[in-house]
Amino acid sequence: MSAGRLAGRRAIVTGAGSGIGAAVAARLAADGAQVFTADIQGEVDFIADLTEADANARLVAAAIERMGGLDTVVPCAGISAFHPLEGHDDAYFQRVLDVNLVAVFRLVREATPHLKAHGAGRIVTIGSTTSTYGDEGLCAYSASKHAVLGFTKSVAAELGPFGVTATCVQPGAIDTPMTAPAFDQMPEYRTFWEGKAPLRRLGQAGDIADVVAFLCSEDARFVSGHGLWVDGGAMVRH
Ligand code: NAP
Repeated sequence: MSAGRLAGRRAIVTGAGSGIGAAVAARLAADGAQVFTADIQGEVDFIADLTEADANARLVAAAIERMGGLDTVVPCAGISAFHPLEGHDDAYFQRVLDVNLVAVFRLVREATPHLKAHGAGRIVTIGSTTSTYGDEGLCAYSASKHAVLGFTKSVAAELGPFGVTATCVQPGAIDTPMTAPAFDQMPEYRTFWEGKAPLRRLGQAGDIADVVAFLCSEDARFVSGHGLWVDGGAMVRH
């Protein structure tokens, strides 16, 4: 850890009531950033369903009011569940896209004037190894995560001239409340992912947060438009 590495930075982290978002918020704060947290539930500064049309505009306004500026956004809020393609519910497919993609687009859009004004803004989205590959039962999730990686690359192209970087962290299987039900109900799924990773374990939320903090820092000033697997090497064998 580099204490003070993010001193002076002002960040929004969504999904901060749980799992990876909570770890990211804690890590950015430990590195000296001011952090404004949001989620649909939990101990955060701003509670909202971020799929509501004006929720992200309200979130950015509230963050600016509290912190006096904004230079970093890390949208971690997300949902996932296994649903086979046959019989897949329209509403759930749409919900996954709304949470994992549309809410990210709206947050980044609302934050953009502030990131441009800062001159060294940072956007770190959370994709997945399923931003690159597919998986059974995850057609909605994988579609949303492919999309968020593509979105991030285009944002990097558009905002780079303003000194803003946009990167997408692509976690592998991480032990969080999102994955706990699947790992509890299907122990063989846990064993599969532990074995698939050359590092022979599931990821922890802190493994992702540490990489996000690096990407938010000055050390990552020349990294943009990039999807980065943080998966213990699991995808090397895909
Ligand atoms: P998590 O523990 O479930 O945290 C996600 C948080 O987002 C939860 O607090 C969730 O609330 C919240 N959220 C869901 N819908 C929302 C909405 N409409 N508005 C505001 N907040 C909402 O999951 P996680 O594992 O930390 O996942 C964080 C991110 O990492 C997600 O984008 C996920 O897709 C990605 N990711 C995770 C893994 C993994 O293996 N865990 C792997 C790759 C990528 P509820 O609990 O009420 O839904």
